[in-house]
Amino acid sequence: MQISRESQTPRVGPRIPHCLVIGQLCYFRDHGQRVNIMIRIEALQLQRLAAETLRHLSVVDTVQVTEVRELTDGMWMVGFEDRAPYTRFPGFEIGIQQDWSPEHAAQELRFELRNKLWICPLCQRRAQMRRIVDLEMFRIECEHCGRFEMDAERLEHLRRSLE
Ligand SMILES: [Zn+2]
Repeated sequence: MQISRESQTPRVGPRIPHCLVIGQLCYFRDHGQRVNIMIRIEALQLQRLAAETLRHLSVVDTVQVTEVRELTDGMWMVGFEDRAPYTRFPGFEIGIQQDWSPEHAAQELRFELRNKLWICPLCQRRAQMRRIVDLEMFRIECEHCGRFEMDAERLEHLRRSLE
């Protein structure tokens, strides 16, 4: 009687590459040969941090994180999608250095998101902004605060310093 090889050896499922997939992105091009656990954790942390920042800025109804990808020089690029009808940038990325602390990364995300999404420096809601020609000034039109002007330096300072 012949026993087939198949019945002797336990069934093993297909080998799954050791990749971390967020959306459709694979971070490890070498499929598990030299998986860098630190990088893997950081990418996931950064994605969570970006999602938290969107909640913090109350823009989750229109903005979402699409991906976290790594540049060859060791920088993370966090991708965002903005579905607001009045958006300036339907899709954009924010660069985060891999050696930054989570606090530093969160600070940069807040600053860049306030800039890209035109978040009002007074009430933190989304607004419309326009640079005034030949002046380092912005005209801000906010549904809540009305129409006002602010110089670029003060606006940048508020974007950076507000929690
Ligand atoms: Zn406002």
